[in-house]
Amino acid sequence: MDLVFNKLLEHATRLREYLKASAEKISLGEGIERLRRLYKVATSDEEREVLDWHLANLEFSNAGCLSDLSLAHWDQDDQYEMGGDHCFLAGGNSRLVHALCDGVPVLYEKTVKQIEHGEDGVSITVEGDQVFKADMALCTVPLGVLKSRSIMFEPELPERKLEAIQRLGFGLLNKVAMVFPHVFWDEEIDTFGCVNKERSKRGEFFLFYSYHTVSGGPVLIALVAGEAALEFEKVDPAVALHRVLGILKGIYGPKGVTVPDPIQSCCTSWGSDPLCAGSYSHIRVGSSGADYDILAESVNDQLFFAGEATNRAYPATMHGALLSGLREASKILCASENRVNSDYKKYALQKSIRPVDGVLDDLFMEPDLECGRFSFVFSFITPEEQQAPGLVRITLEKHLFPPSKKRKVKGKKNDQEPAAEKIDQQVFHLYATVSQEQATELMASEDDKSRIAFLCKDLGAKLMGYDSTCNVVSSLISGILRARKARKRLEGSKNFKLPL
Ligand SMILES: Cc1cc2nc3c(=O)[nH]c(=O)nc-3n(C[C@H](O)[C@H](O)[C@H](O)COP(=O)(O)OP(=O)(O)OC[C@H]3O[C@@H](n4cnc5c(N)ncnc54)[C@H](O)[C@@H]3O)c2cc1C
Repeated sequence: MDLVFNKLLEHATRLREYLKASAEKISLGEGIERLRRLYKVATSDEEREVLDWHLANLEFSNAGCLSDLSLAHWDQDDQYEMGGDHCFLAGGNSRLVHALCDGVPVLYEKTVKQIEHGEDGVSITVEGDQVFKADMALCTVPLGVLKSRSIMFEPELPERKLEAIQRLGFGLLNKVAMVFPHVFWDEEIDTFGCVNKERSKRGEFFLFYSYHTVSGGPVLIALVAGEAALEFEKVDPAVALHRVLGILKGIYGPKGVTVPDPIQSCCTSWGSDPLCAGSYSHIRVGSSGADYDILAESVNDQLFFAGEATNRAYPATMHGALLSGLREASKILCASENRVNSDYKKYALQKSIRPVDGVLDDLFMEPDLECGRFSFVFSFITPEEQQAPGLVRITLEKHLFPPSKKRKVKGKKNDQEPAAEKIDQQVFHLYATVSQEQATELMASEDDKSRIAFLCKDLGAKLMGYDSTCNVVSSLISGILRARKARKRLEGSKNFKLPL
């Protein structure tokens, strides 16, 4: 029957070549059934059951019912298949995951509810309303979760991405894991299977994996694929376990082997688990490999996507998920480099229009007005321009190192005091914008303290340091410089006397 099954698949490939575009609308299941009837194969009940076992195995590898898989594209990734044997990892695949996240901070129990993305970056809200903010985010939730719309994207994801999410299939595969008191099955084999009489149940415990050589204990895992995987989640786990044991007894009982009760067991229900809503992706009728690429597309170089369902060449696999993560890491690196470059350009632009260093010191060497700690420069050309904007500078002392107890340590006193004296008194300046009229009002205030209060409270001025002033009011500084030059020219022309 192996041969018949393989021939049917070969003919299915020819059928889609013959059908061309029409193959897009046909499922693999329908194609195989048409061919089976055409070639009149697997006609007896026994042959039919064995063929159904092979079909269940195909449903297992695609995590989906054959009636859902696209005849045209279901195997589009075959060309990328890697060579080499399939093997189990001693200690389980989680060893790889643990090694990969060694030293990486991972926060568990944070279920994402909302992802907001925009000019201010990305805000991710998890259950309990905790918010995480970042410049960029990588979304690696399974396709099933994206399909369930349990995460709200704000703004919504692009339409073409939403359509691809809908088109691609996310199927189901379940497992029953059992730990027995001892190995009662053939120790030499890794897998064994059983055929089902009912077609709709062909995937129910059709394959058993023996893990006793790699898990450190007598572990058996029964697989549930296809339609049976969906039904499986509706059944009480105790009932499901009873059924598996019935099958094992049916296989080993006639061989005179007693099947013991398992010490521990676990039934998966990945379809109803809101954190996966299925097991892995496949190409459904109406979909194609291009949908994997669309799922991988990032949004505004800010929201990135990885995971098995974003890898066209290696979907439905752990290595596909891993490779997609590396791909996105490189995209994120490029995007952040671009971002740094554009920030640098912006900064460079600012720097080019930013006044040259020392310009404020030069301007305030000859203030237009002075009063206590306050000095003023204006952009007027003639003093009548009362509304002409200008800058006020307030000179303050900075007590950097107030005498500390440490300095009074015996024997060190003399070494430290002269230096402390030198740096104790330093001046610094704060700047704000004011008009000439406002400056006149400030000058009328009683003292510097009331001037500062008037400036900040009544005039609502924002005090700035040297750098901020140069960045924020660079055009005003240029205006003041131009006005000063113009005034000097005017004064020069007034003083100019024709020699008699
Ligand atoms: C039964 C079975 C057998 C398989 N056998 C093989 C095999 O032999 N070889 C192979 O290569 N591959 C196999 N696979 C497929 C492989 O396991 C997957 O392709 C792979 O794990 C996908 O990785 P991922 O990172 O895309 O998604 P996942 O591993 O599913 O990671 C997604 C993560 O997102 C989390 N998440 C979901 N929603 C949220 C949310 N709202 N907030 C926060 N976190 C969230 C989930 O908890 C999960 O940790 C098998 C899969 C199954 C189910």
